[in-house]
Amino acid sequence: MTDCIIIGSGVAGISAALTLKANGKSFLLFGSPSLSEKIEKAEMIRNYPGLSGVTGKQFAHALQTQLADENIEIINEKVGGVYALKDKFAVLTNDQKTYESRTVILACGVESVKQIDGEETFLGRGVSYCATCDGFLYKDKTIAVFCTSKRLEHEIEYLSDIAAKVYLIAMYKDVAINRENVEIIRKMPQKIDGAKRVEKIVFAMPPSQNLPKELAVDGVFMLRECVSPAILMGGLDVKDGHVVVDRDMSTNLSGCFAAGDCTGRPYQYAKAVGEGNVAAHSVSKYL
Ligand SMILES: Cc1cc2nc3c(=O)[nH]c(=O)nc-3n(C[C@H](O)[C@H](O)[C@H](O)COP(=O)(O)OP(=O)(O)OC[C@H]3O[C@@H](n4cnc5c(N)ncnc54)[C@H](O)[C@@H]3O)c2cc1C
Repeated sequence: MTDCIIIGSGVAGISAALTLKANGKSFLLFGSPSLSEKIEKAEMIRNYPGLSGVTGKQFAHALQTQLADENIEIINEKVGGVYALKDKFAVLTNDQKTYESRTVILACGVESVKQIDGEETFLGRGVSYCATCDGFLYKDKTIAVFCTSKRLEHEIEYLSDIAAKVYLIAMYKDVAINRENVEIIRKMPQKIDGAKRVEKIVFAMPPSQNLPKELAVDGVFMLRECVSPAILMGGLDVKDGHVVVDRDMSTNLSGCFAAGDCTGRPYQYAKAVGEGNVAAHSVSKYL
């Protein structure tokens, strides 16, 4: 069993990984080989000590080089759930794999696109966050897929192979999905509705000329880069969408720490890096 699992490959997760490495602890770092869209997309960084006039792409490249120099690998799997057991954590990924660790650092960032009304109410009753876990339930059915990132298009393709019809609510540019059973919608839905289970997705106005305000669907998949921490981990103390932490970045769950944007504002690299470092030292002390 590994000492720590870090969820998130933004600067908070990377900072935690570098510190754990220096402290001689074993760990697994989950995220994306391209690190984070919030690094890549920064036009010019001016407020980080030692870096002036550096683009997000240059910053990402420097971080990737540093990770390679330290032999730190990123596991390219999305974490779907974290379970606090008696004296360890079980981390389940959307690839249906389970990993175990003594501690966890949540460095999963925040999603800028807000939750949709009904999303939490119908979670497990037609709303899913994991294409590969639940996709098979919707064979030959009609589903809506709400997606915030081009990087998740492989999950849309997977779902469109299974479902008869997919309404793709795309909240990102340059959609590259071109399939007969996928209809692209560019409007934010108002709510997910139904009785016992999801029955429809409702828009304030018809989302296009050929579609009505309400679309009958059997299920809704929410594909976001960042899953809300409360959904990721049951029992976690969360306030206004942010993980509640102490000065040492510990959460209300023993052995679970958090760092970066997921703990609250200001959303800035320097704060995320500092918190990742503190979280890793706290993990070492805890162990
Ligand atoms: C366009 C833009 C420009 C910015 N410019 C600046 C700037 O100039 N200066 C500044 O200080 N700040 C800037 N920021 C803010 C800064 O990007 C963030 O504060 C910082 O990236 C937060 O780092 P983080 O590690 O907490 O989260 P993130 O960078 O959001 O990283 C979180 C990572 O976790 C991964 N993840 C999430 N959930 C899971 C999961 N379930 N399983 C696996 N991986 C998961 C995500 O894919 C992502 O890789 C900018 C933000 C944007 C969007």
